Amino acid sequence: MNVYDSRRITDMLRPLGYTETDQPDDADMMILNTCHIRDKATEKVFSELGRLREMKDARKDAGKHTVIGVAGCVAQAEGDVITRRAPYVDLVFGPQTYGQLPEMILGLNGGARVINTDFPVIPKFDLMVGAAPANTGPTAFLSIQEGCDKFCTFCVVPYTRGAEFSRPVRDVCDEAKKLLDAGAVEITLLGQNVNAYHGDGLDGTVWGLGRLAEELAKLPTLKRIRYMTSHPRDCDDALIAAHRDIPVLMPFLHLPIQSGSDMILKAMNRKHTADDYRRIIERFRAARPDMAFSSDFIVGYPGETDADHAASVALVREIGYASAYSFKYSARPGTPAAAVQAALVRDDVAQARLLELQDAIFQGGLGFNSAHMGKTVDVLFDRFDPDRGQIHGRTAHNQPLHMAGTVDLLGKIMPVTVTGYTGSALAGEVISII
Ligand code: SAH
Ligand code: SF4
Repeated sequence: MNVYDSRRITDMLRPLGYTETDQPDDADMMILNTCHIRDKATEKVFSELGRLREMKDARKDAGKHTVIGVAGCVAQAEGDVITRRAPYVDLVFGPQTYGQLPEMILGLNGGARVINTDFPVIPKFDLMVGAAPANTGPTAFLSIQEGCDKFCTFCVVPYTRGAEFSRPVRDVCDEAKKLLDAGAVEITLLGQNVNAYHGDGLDGTVWGLGRLAEELAKLPTLKRIRYMTSHPRDCDDALIAAHRDIPVLMPFLHLPIQSGSDMILKAMNRKHTADDYRRIIERFRAARPDMAFSSDFIVGYPGETDADHAASVALVREIGYASAYSFKYSARPGTPAAAVQAALVRDDVAQARLLELQDAIFQGGLGFNSAHMGKTVDVLFDRFDPDRGQIHGRTAHNQPLHMAGTVDLLGKIMPVTVTGYTGSALAGEVISII
């Protein structure tokens, strides 16, 4: 979502006369878009800001002024800490304020520092509609939903991104068309709980994600639709049926469970059990037998026992994920879990559990990828590495694939024979058409 937001920030700045540069020396403005989900992410912000300060000082010695901005959820949650710890930062603004950037920049011209962590009444998307997206490349992100009302005990999202909000279908379709016109062939619909989407539909009723996907699938140049991140409680029949009925909706679902233990899921306020989750996976597989899955896991949540952890490892093996992310629990200030003092998991224990879980995930990926060996898969090529003469893409099941290739394959979907694999990627070669 931060990648998407950063693109939109750039789109907002372009009409003000700014252009992108990859040379920090050239940059009159540097904006750090930040993530607050785990403590590591916050610490990274401050070390990165130190680097930006050096650049700002060097430019100052050369007689040039530089504006440093901090955007995103760290700005939202820790705006006052940033202004104290990093007084050279000129602009601090939260994720809901991007639509107000032109006014904020005008404010800067008065020489004042600008701090904006409002939750405005007018949704940010309404203020950003005018900005046209720049060339996106073959794959593009599109935010359709933001915020969260679920309040899992460990998570900052409801506080930093605010209450759940869905964009109207009309706006989503208009933005999708612009992205396609700018060169995209795949769109990934984004939201903290993207499948909780409930936007105003084209017929006056409220549409869910399945119905939205059906509408987007009518756009003739849109070849692939993906979405993330989904919550197990919001997988309705229409979404499951959409995977059966809509060929451009990719057979891949990122569906975080966080833990395989019901005790821990309850403590986390996830409002679903491991069995609820298993049933959802079964329903998707019944609708679309080749559906592949990934997940997020947190290890070392307060109170997690060896048995709880074993349940997570067993669930990884049982589901057979194509891939999954796993994180050590990180106490986030202001969340209910951060107040828990009992049965904290020692860091070395959490670390050992993380490695064990990651090994199970890797073995699962190895099994999933090895099953594709020698098969022909459709790959959308999205990145070319001229130094290595390598082209990168993704299969329908979201497996990264690389092979020797040329830049003209970018943006194309081609049948590729899988010639090698690891636990996290495939190698291949294009079938020659005689
Ligand atoms: N809405 C999604 C997840 C969004 S946050 C869902 O409910 O599944 C992305 C991921 O970051 C989460 O799935 C979780 O695994 C991880 N995460 C969030 N807060 C965390 C914390 N305090 N410590 C460690 N991992 C965390
Ligand atoms: Fe965070 Fe996801 Fe839980 Fe919402 S549902 S509080 S975003 S983990």
